[in-house]
Amino acid sequence: MEYIVQIPVPLPHIRSVNAWLLRGDPLTLVDTGPRSDEALAALESGLRATGLELEDIELLLITHHHLDHAGLAATIARRSGATVAALEPVAAYGERYEQRSAADRRFSLALMRHHGVPAQVIADGEDFWDYIRDNSEAFATGRRLRDGETIRAGGRDLRLLHRPGHSTTDTLLVDDESRLAFVGDHLLGRVSSNTEIYPAAEPTGTRPRARVEYLANLRRTARMPLERLLTGHGEPVLAHARLVRRRFADHERRCARIATALEPGPATAYEIAQRLWPSRTVREQSLLVVWEVLGHLDLLLDAGAVREAVTDDVAHFELSGRRHTPARRLRARENRSHEPEPHGGGRRARAS
Ligand SMILES: [Zn+2]
Repeated sequence: MEYIVQIPVPLPHIRSVNAWLLRGDPLTLVDTGPRSDEALAALESGLRATGLELEDIELLLITHHHLDHAGLAATIARRSGATVAALEPVAAYGERYEQRSAADRRFSLALMRHHGVPAQVIADGEDFWDYIRDNSEAFATGRRLRDGETIRAGGRDLRLLHRPGHSTTDTLLVDDESRLAFVGDHLLGRVSSNTEIYPAAEPTGTRPRARVEYLANLRRTARMPLERLLTGHGEPVLAHARLVRRRFADHERRCARIATALEPGPATAYEIAQRLWPSRTVREQSLLVVWEVLGHLDLLLDAGAVREAVTDDVAHFELSGRRHTPARRLRARENRSHEPEPHGGGRRARAS
């Protein structure tokens, strides 16, 4: 009998999201899929294939607050009586999902304006926010855990580690004994994880440096003696340290491309995106490309290669004249010549 069962749940735009069934005491599900009839049906048929019903679930663990990972949490808890367990940041977001996602929406509109996204492009992206609002709902977390705490789940001990970057609530669920971890979208096999930027006092304060934080956390994960990372999308990752090196090489190349894109002169983050990617990608995934460019600009700002100036409430970036030599900061051994689309490209920004 397989003790960990992968249940792919269908998800628009990016094929599927993984729910993980942990047989053993207490019977545990890690992540849920979005709140939709189709996802619920897929989850139930996946459970039935192992001889179980949704009502049998005793414990529900959530890797982060995104709708494709927590959308069905309230439904599952209602029907099964399962306890939801999660780190404090996940619990806090979950209990006020509508207010928090509405605040993220307002913040993002201001962020996009501040970084040069045209008003019409922002207006055209409104349906994305409706999708985020409608495909999840608030849930109550019965066991709120602190960073580093351990919980018994599916016959094993899982240690919960807060590793934000992809989202503010990212959690690793680590089984030290079996050298495996449920990692949500912290590291994915097929694409680089995107890093969302929420929320801070923009434009008066400083924006959250999600990509910088993400890379620091990814480096910590690479050092862990893990053999199997069970990811939120796609197949498990086996040689995770090597994959992390490859991701660092990707980020390095992207920084170099952004520095090159600034050679003609100062530009907003949105204008930089227009210099890097097809106009349709930039228009239709405006928030995602702003996150992507800003995240890498933060790395370039740290390296002293780029300067930021705000005029009339819009941020412009320009080369500082200092050569960009980030190799020391983002060391990577592997080199691959292909340039991917914006990390997580092809997917809707926060649906992952
Ligand atoms: Zn996600």
